Amino acid sequence: NTQIIFSKIPTTWPVIGEHITVNKTDFDLDAPLADGEFILKTLVLSVDPYMRGRMRDPTIVSYVPPFLVDEPMSGHTMKEVVKSKSSLFKEGDYVYGLGTHEEYAKLNDELAKAYGLVLRNEPKTNGIPVSNYVGILGMPGMTAYVGLYKIGELKEGETIYISAGKVKKRTSGAVGQVAGQIAKAQGLRVIGSAGTDEKVAHLKEIGFDGAFNYKTEDTDQKLTELCPDGIDVYFENVGGKMLEVVLQHINFFGRIIACGMISQYNLAESEKVGGLMTIVARSIRFQGYIVSNSPEMEPQFLKDVTQMILDKKIKYQETHTHGIENTPEALLDVLNGKNFGKQVVHA
Ligand code: NDP
Repeated sequence: NTQIIFSKIPTTWPVIGEHITVNKTDFDLDAPLADGEFILKTLVLSVDPYMRGRMRDPTIVSYVPPFLVDEPMSGHTMKEVVKSKSSLFKEGDYVYGLGTHEEYAKLNDELAKAYGLVLRNEPKTNGIPVSNYVGILGMPGMTAYVGLYKIGELKEGETIYISAGKVKKRTSGAVGQVAGQIAKAQGLRVIGSAGTDEKVAHLKEIGFDGAFNYKTEDTDQKLTELCPDGIDVYFENVGGKMLEVVLQHINFFGRIIACGMISQYNLAESEKVGGLMTIVARSIRFQGYIVSNSPEMEPQFLKDVTQMILDKKIKYQETHTHGIENTPEALLDVLNGKNFGKQVVHA
């Protein structure tokens, strides 16, 4: 049973073999199960930027629990039930939710409820790839949906800019590419940024009205050029200097959907951001959110976005890694921008 273990708390960039290690243990698939118990085999798992925030000193309180040293890491997964004495899941069922980064895991009904695991057999019949269920139809897609509809107050004809989460990377990333296409379908003008020319080309291909490479082009100049009427909605995924520049382009009564600040996650100390008075002066609404706090939006999200996929009204780029033992590299790739679209690992 291959497991991905969180082995040491990093202070800056995590190092494979030091902070994250791969471990092999025995797992007896033939051991008898008690009533309520079942065995899950991981099909696909999601690696996401927020996982860096879980690699922290456990005494620091945050919105998501820390990883525990010497324990398997975890995140959103699709797993298959391979043996069952559960009253919730039968053999062959697909199960979605927070799961450990290991090939096999034994759980029981009580734990499944505590972790919020749900049955998700749809990909067996609707032709949508299982990997989409940890991406566009999983937590990242839902993040885009919640941010846009709960905070964005989207109005036809407005301009939205999507950075690292969207502005830069995100735009071509897991969250950003969904956010951009939903906003486009709502009649907004969509501008994005990303860290490679290939990602920028992809953004244009999937319908962004404009996109630029934030690493090689000047953000201030590009926003002036691509958002001549200013920015009404900023989908913030990057933070730091990007936020400082964007603030200069935000319109009166603009909304900032504060989804993430990936540029800060591996810094020992956060960058200072100037120009915050603009938020007051231009009556801007700057609101953060955590996707897991809006479970009531999930049924509508799944219905709307599944339909968009089936109608071919939305495209979704993924980067696939094969072999659970390659999960640490896949996670590091997300943190440094090597992924192109949603990074998933096929166990
Ligand atoms: P992505 O798939 O977009 O991967 C992260 C991308 O961020 C990289 O590909 C990279 O692309 C870009 N990036 C990395 N470092 C920087 C930097 N210093 N400046 C700008 N861009 C950078 O990730 P997700 O779509 O999963 O996540 C996007 C954002 O959404 C993150 O901030 C994340 O924390 C947040 N999030 C928030 C949630 C919530 O509930 N609020 C839930 C899920 C995600 P590039 O080549 O373009 O640099």
